[in-house]
Amino acid sequence: AERPYIVGNWKMNGTRAMLPEARAIDRASQRVMKVEVALAPPYTLIHAVHREVEQIGVGAQDCHPGEDGAHTGDISANMVADAGAKFVILGHSERRQDHGEDSALLSAKLDAALNAGIRAILCCGETLTTRESGNAEAFVLGQLREILPDIDNAADSVTVAYEPIWAIGTGRTAETGDIEAMHGSIRRLLNDTYGEETGSQIRILYGGSVKPDNARDILELENVDGALVGGASLTAESFLGIVLAA
Ligand code: 13P
Repeated sequence: AERPYIVGNWKMNGTRAMLPEARAIDRASQRVMKVEVALAPPYTLIHAVHREVEQIGVGAQDCHPGEDGAHTGDISANMVADAGAKFVILGHSERRQDHGEDSALLSAKLDAALNAGIRAILCCGETLTTRESGNAEAFVLGQLREILPDIDNAADSVTVAYEPIWAIGTGRTAETGDIEAMHGSIRRLLNDTYGEETGSQIRILYGGSVKPDNARDILELENVDGALVGGASLTAESFLGIVLAA
């Protein structure tokens, strides 16, 4: 990709004690302008991280599909935007698993995000059983077909993240050939859906045990435009190792 996009997903990690890591990531990223860097801290830290950083993007890990109202404990897209988020991760496999999120709900959340003026990182990925049965590609493309928005400016609003579930937090990454094949199939779907001009500009990130020592091999693959990083985004040292490898 022209300008790799490296996004850290802190998941349910991080208290204010981690703000110095965010600041360190931001300061170092200012010297690596050829890479676009972003962090998605938990809701409780979005505003604090937003205030702490100058260069990198800040996002949320989820949002509610509604605008406001009687939904105790939920957070709307408008709220995360107000806190400083410029994007939201939607459809992460952990939310699909832990909260039973389906495509209808994700489409509603995506609408809410776009209405709030923030971008979305749409996650997809298959289980090991699906991979081993040879149906990974059909499954992943099906997930995306159900949620890709019918809009003109998709390249400005949408990023796709392919995260094979069996590679998340396991230290196991997909084979580079399999990553390239899946990203190529996703690219064809994007081109078919939006036309080549737009489809070719939508970024496709890989996620799943991306670390400083495997980042270069993954990020140089065709149609891999960046990475969505979990565990290795929790310290400035390891996350910057990935940023510098990009
Ligand atoms: P790990 O990098 O910890 O495998 O997590 C990947 C992920 O789920 C990012 O969203």
